[in-house]
Amino acid sequence: MNIADSLRLASGLEKLGATKTEDIAEADIAVLNTCVVRQSAEDRAYGWLNRVGEIKRNTRPDLTVGLMGCLVGVKGNKKVAGTFPDIDVFLPPSDPEPLLNLVEQQTEKRSETNIVGRRHSIQDGELVLPAEDCGTTFVSYVPVVYGCSHACTFCIIPFRRGIERSRPVDQIVAECKSLALQGVKEITLLGQIVDRYGYDLQDDSNLALLLEQVHDIQGLERIRFLTSHPNYLDDELLRTVADLPKICDHIEVPVQSGNNEILEKMRRGYTVEQYNKLIERIREFMPKGSISCDVIVGFPGETESQFKDTCDLLSQHKFDKVHIAKYSPRPGTVSARRMEDDIPAKVKENRRKTLDDIQASVQSDINLQLLGNKEEVLVEGYQRDKWRGRTRTNKLVFFEDDREWAGNLVDVEIKWTGPWFMEGKLVAP
Ligand code: SF4
Repeated sequence: MNIADSLRLASGLEKLGATKTEDIAEADIAVLNTCVVRQSAEDRAYGWLNRVGEIKRNTRPDLTVGLMGCLVGVKGNKKVAGTFPDIDVFLPPSDPEPLLNLVEQQTEKRSETNIVGRRHSIQDGELVLPAEDCGTTFVSYVPVVYGCSHACTFCIIPFRRGIERSRPVDQIVAECKSLALQGVKEITLLGQIVDRYGYDLQDDSNLALLLEQVHDIQGLERIRFLTSHPNYLDDELLRTVADLPKICDHIEVPVQSGNNEILEKMRRGYTVEQYNKLIERIREFMPKGSISCDVIVGFPGETESQFKDTCDLLSQHKFDKVHIAKYSPRPGTVSARRMEDDIPAKVKENRRKTLDDIQASVQSDINLQLLGNKEEVLVEGYQRDKWRGRTRTNKLVFFEDDREWAGNLVDVEIKWTGPWFMEGKLVAP
């Protein structure tokens, strides 16, 4: 979501004539887009603010410093504003307007009449890739629903990103079309609970209908969506994914724990049994599809036996990928206020490692079955003398070839597999 928000901001700045630089010494504007889902992410943001504040005070007093995202939140953050007085502008998640307005005002003050950049032919409301990324960016992200109205007890996102707000279909389709015109081949539709898209709109919109419309866009080759909540992945949606060829048969559906008492304490709204049935249903609709999942270890009070239930669930379902997080209490959430963070850091790390080992073995087995297969790969770029891309099921594949393949869909014969990626040979196009 932050990548998508940053793109929206870059697009707005690009329309005002700004260009991208990786070097802060060259920059007139520096923005940090933040995540606070875990304390470590928040700490990294403070480190950056200290460094940039120093640069601004010592050498670059004209540097405009922006802070965006969850550290700002929908209500602002007076504490951060007080601690870091060098920040000029605060941008709530998914809202680039405060900085764009400031840049416009600053430019007017400097009486620069030609503020419209070289790409002014692009229409208002259209999402533009920074010029440097045109022709080199083939995979992009479009938010379809902002915020979340669920109240999982560990989660800070509803506090920072606000309540659920679906975007109108025509806006989303227009953005996807403009990205496709700029060379993007794969788009991932995003939402904290993406499968609730349309629930808050006053029409019949839903994710399945939206996917059908995005599917019709010329030039787009692949469509993904994430993250799904187990309670809203209905048959209509699964059938749409199975039926429409451009929609990748890959589902991201977090479980968070394999134990019902922990799920209840997390207020996830489903049981392990219901989750198991859902996985069966997904596999019925797409037997060759892939499933990823998220898990939290060390939730308050999690016993060894409750943790073992999560191990068993992972071994049972053999997910293609699992994002494992160690529980980190976030101030203001129900779990931080009412539950003691009583699992020692070492135990959390051991549990994380145990799940990681299970998953490495599961993924090794799954990928090994692909040995010798011909897989369709969308080539995203070049890395360490090899082309890098992903299969429809979101598996990372590398292959060597002297020709230019970025942005192309190619067939690769899988010659080597490991748990985290595979290598292959280009099949003559
Ligand atoms: S559904 Fe996801 S985003 Fe919403 S509160 Fe729960 S974990 Fe957070």
